Amino acid sequence: MHIYLCGATNPVMGLETADSLYDIVIIGSGPAGYTAGIYAARANLKTVIIAGVTPGGQLMLTGVVENFPGFPDGVQGPDLMENMRRQAESAGVEIVYDDAVDVDFTAYPRRIITSDRTFLAKTVIIATGASPKWLGLESERRLLGRGVSSCATCDGPLFKGARCAVVVGGGDSAMEYALFLSKLVEKVVVVHRRDKLRASKIMQDRVFSEPKIEFVWNSVVVDVLGSERVEGVKVRNRLTGEEWIIPCSAVFVAIGHAPNTEFLRGKLELDEEGYIKVNSSLETSVRGVFAAGDVHDKRYRQAITAAGFGCMAAMEAIRFIEEGYPERLEQEYRAGHPEVVSGPTDPSENF
Ligand SMILES: Cc1cc2nc3c(=O)[nH]c(=O)nc-3n(C[C@H](O)[C@H](O)[C@H](O)COP(=O)(O)OP(=O)(O)OC[C@H]3O[C@@H](n4cnc5c(N)ncnc54)[C@H](O)[C@@H]3O)c2cc1C
Repeated sequence: MHIYLCGATNPVMGLETADSLYDIVIIGSGPAGYTAGIYAARANLKTVIIAGVTPGGQLMLTGVVENFPGFPDGVQGPDLMENMRRQAESAGVEIVYDDAVDVDFTAYPRRIITSDRTFLAKTVIIATGASPKWLGLESERRLLGRGVSSCATCDGPLFKGARCAVVVGGGDSAMEYALFLSKLVEKVVVVHRRDKLRASKIMQDRVFSEPKIEFVWNSVVVDVLGSERVEGVKVRNRLTGEEWIIPCSAVFVAIGHAPNTEFLRGKLELDEEGYIKVNSSLETSVRGVFAAGDVHDKRYRQAITAAGFGCMAAMEAIRFIEEGYPERLEQEYRAGHPEVVSGPTDPSENF
């Protein structure tokens, strides 16, 4: 069996044409993916963004964004993402609205597979982000962006001066949220399902010494109340079954994030939580495959940092190509795979 490198029909992966070889294939269309696309296309590299079936990323789930520089009056999250998409397209990026379902990083060029195409890539930037975990309540979904949020750093300032904000969770993120909010609102109530926190000792010391923060133990939020905006939460004690209402203007759900890396399991190195491991150049354990944004960054998780990582990953990918690594990797791959032949210039020669 012959495996064609590029510009050919590959009998293993399905129909591929000469058009399928890209300098940079970007997977994901949040701030990291679109920024990487803008930089790559402006360097005159053939670039495609595999944007996913729900493009635009996490900011599509929010209302006003007040901390992205350049918008003194704030900007609606979906508007910001639409602007980034348009800017990437005008720079010359091709955008495909499908999910990457599989990759083959053992071959070179790298292969990225969607439901109906295989893309060949000299370099890859993975920017698939992370998904916040939610409580799973209908009312939570309905009031998302109207008082329900998963990001206190982002949305907390919108509730400055409020009488009460609720934080759900017991880990370090939840405690960071509670401390941040305690500078903004009169009272913060942390609702936690157990009788002790999972957060680190230092975070526990900080929250327990902040008088504005109260705790409701062994309890879960069973409903978010309000028609247009959050007006309170209904809480149930898991041990006694007792239910009551906490009036509040905002609920911050801090029960964790899940990086969107399921399709990458076994293909490159992930940490124990599924985040992609990268070096200081944002390169993953696979040569020429970079990661950018919330898919590798669990510390900052901001649109501006994701965009910054997108810029960095693109600049590293551009350098990788300019320094001739694709040719070297292709030669190495051929040397290890004598069954590989160069693809014909006319793909139809394969039929
Ligand atoms: C409710 C909420 C409010 C927020 N508010 C703010 C704020 O005010 N300011 C701020 O700075 N940050 C805010 N954030 C955080 C910010 O949205 C994220 O840090 C940022 O979007 C991360 O960007 P990203 O590009 O890494 O990934 P994401 O935005 O998560 O985008 C990843 C994209 O990749 C796609 N994708 C996933 N898997 C695949 C696949 N297999 N194939 C193709 N595509 C795929 C996804 O569909 C998604 O479109 C908020 C987050 C939330 C949830």
